[in-house]
Amino acid sequence: MICERFDRPDMDDCIFCQIVAGDIPSRTVYEDATTMAFLDANPLAPGHTLVIPKDHHEHVQDIPAGVAGDVFATVHRLVAPVQDAAGAEASTVAFNNGEVAGQEVPHAHCHIIPRFTEDGSAPIHSIFGERPDLGDDELDDIADDIADGVSD
Ligand code: 5GP
Ligand code: ZN
Repeated sequence: MICERFDRPDMDDCIFCQIVAGDIPSRTVYEDATTMAFLDANPLAPGHTLVIPKDHHEHVQDIPAGVAGDVFATVHRLVAPVQDAAGAEASTVAFNNGEVAGQEVPHAHCHIIPRFTEDGSAPIHSIFGERPDLGDDELDDIADDIADGVSD
């Protein structure tokens, strides 16, 4: 059977599609019909886990709604076992969504990174530089634009 995942050229070189296909080995910790989770090859902490949709979608917003729900269900399912296995008290759960935001593998993936007291890291807020000084009108406008852009 021809794997539909490899019908599009942008998937041919995708490392994560190759992991899903079994062509590249991974330390898989969970798999179901639409999602997969495996250890990050260059972990930021012991137990650093990636959760992906099995089909190739580059960005979070490209994932079909139903599969996006499946991805979050897998994240939700994995957080406690990842933290427990690492002996961690907390975790940073995050997507680098798009190249400008630091996404290096163009197949959407959620990082679950165990966190420890005094692990030398910081909150997500620390990756941002100077904060914009936004007035009430600008905040109202952008809130309206986002609300208007939400589709059912
Ligand atoms: P990004 O920067 O795109 O959010 O994160 C990509 C992640 O994928 C990195 O943390 C990197 O260590 C991980 N990674 C890259 N190539 C491989 C691979 O072949 N196998 C596994 N398990 N992880 C990988
Ligand atoms: Zn892919």
